Amino acid sequence: MVKEGNNLTISSIENGPFESANIVAELNEGAGDTIILCAHYDSVSTTPGACDNAAGVAVLLELARVFSETGADRHVVFLFTTGEEQGMLGATVFARELSEEYKNNTAAVYALDMFADSNQQTPILYTCDGEPDRATALIYAACQNYSLAAPVLGKEFRSDHAAFYGIGLPAALAAQGESDSLYHTPYDIMDNLSSDYMDLVFAWMAGVLLG
Ligand SMILES: [Zn+2]
Repeated sequence: MVKEGNNLTISSIENGPFESANIVAELNEGAGDTIILCAHYDSVSTTPGACDNAAGVAVLLELARVFSETGADRHVVFLFTTGEEQGMLGATVFARELSEEYKNNTAAVYALDMFADSNQQTPILYTCDGEPDRATALIYAACQNYSLAAPVLGKEFRSDHAAFYGIGLPAALAAQGESDSLYHTPYDIMDNLSSDYMDLVFAWMAGVLLG
């Protein structure tokens, strides 16, 4: 079920203030633990934004498509955020509006952002402090259950997961390494994406949703 998202006003250097909105779709509202999966759909004007972050949106859409057909035991939130490039604005607004009860029911949050550059190493998992948390534990359990390549753990706060970490939720980011040569360039196009990396991140998240 697709719901209305959070409308917000964003300021950009090119366009000044403009209206934008998160897009939220949910499965099994009210059922047990909540898993929030998010990917930002905004980009910057200097790039087509294939890796940053159409690949994340594509994997999230595919997860929504598959699990809307098969169903899931958990409550799953598919959150397409806006304004990430201006400082995680959409994720921050979404996180800020969560009730205490909603937060208490949330098992983990995952941000999918910049993990599919074919010229880079296999995606890894990041937390804001570099320490394992419930979000990473669920991924490692899924890797064991479904014989998936387990990710290395790193430290990074520059994506939407930080907004959820900031309100005390276990939150991880699936992304690649530091030196992204495509980052915000005209070369961030589909030809440079790795479908294997997209499959892997899909499998990690599907494994978590399957429990
Ligand atoms: Zn991004």
